[in-house]
Amino acid sequence: MVKLQTSLPELVTDPATIRALTQEAREQGKTIGLVPTMGALHDGHLSLVKASTEQCDLTVVTIFINPTQFTDKNDWTEYPRDLQSDMEKLAGGEVSLVFAPTAEDIYPHGHVTSIHIGPLEKIVEGRCRPGHFSGVATVLAKLFQMIPADTAFFGRKDYQQLKVVERLVQDLNVPIKVHGCPTIRDEDGLALSSRNVFLSQEQRQQALSIPKALKLAERRIEEGETDARAIVAGMRSELSCSGALHIDYALLADAETLKPVTTIQGPTVALIAVRVGSTRLIDNEVMMPQR
Ligand code: AMP
Repeated sequence: MVKLQTSLPELVTDPATIRALTQEAREQGKTIGLVPTMGALHDGHLSLVKASTEQCDLTVVTIFINPTQFTDKNDWTEYPRDLQSDMEKLAGGEVSLVFAPTAEDIYPHGHVTSIHIGPLEKIVEGRCRPGHFSGVATVLAKLFQMIPADTAFFGRKDYQQLKVVERLVQDLNVPIKVHGCPTIRDEDGLALSSRNVFLSQEQRQQALSIPKALKLAERRIEEGETDARAIVAGMRSELSCSGALHIDYALLADAETLKPVTTIQGPTVALIAVRVGSTRLIDNEVMMPQR
């Protein structure tokens, strides 16, 4: 069998070069799609890449494990890294540029500026991970400065992050459109995540209670249940079935403000974060109540 040689995207590590290359493409009238990631790419990331290559002339994928968004230093050290394998997954000519800077490139000596997103960074996921969304917002604001993209693509898998980016772009008048993409799941329902590689077979089975709990919430809301407490109790009981998950939170919130709701009235998001052994998993589903 003849193995086809597929071309790797161009790898750039320094901010000045990525800026020059993307600026040049803009001046040539090309539209630019930006897909920020932390690498360890899977089909969830690749779905964002696909959305970008379909909509934009040039796609830039960034691979940067941003230290300032990790509350736990060990979590940052142990985060999966494999740039060569990531580059191969992006081979084939669709992605034009991969920007994979070092922490020193992004935060040179003396860097002190950070961005805060008001109440949104302190609730739900932000409450469990103090400083996380400020780290996310800061690195994205910097990437938006370095790469003059038309559209930036984010997964709804990280729902609160998507809301943070929408807020950031609006509040700082960033001329970039934010495009949210659906969550990609494995056949068994588990949302794809770079952290899934840490799960044993048994833990993976236990983690399936996450999509089950989200489905349960969806079904209850479809059936007309409006009492959030009753639905959350059902979600928690589903998550507690195996007895092996630690629930950081399982709640129903307003889909825009992410403030927890007691009565389901409008667009609502079910948000879950659990720990399976030492692996932390998050997932969500947005729902519309029946009128
Ligand atoms: P990460 O590398 O985990 O920071 O994720 C980079 C981007 O990929 C973020 O916008 C995530 O929301 C998105 N993403 C991660 N997992 C999935 C998934 N299963 N489906 C869709 N998008 C995802």
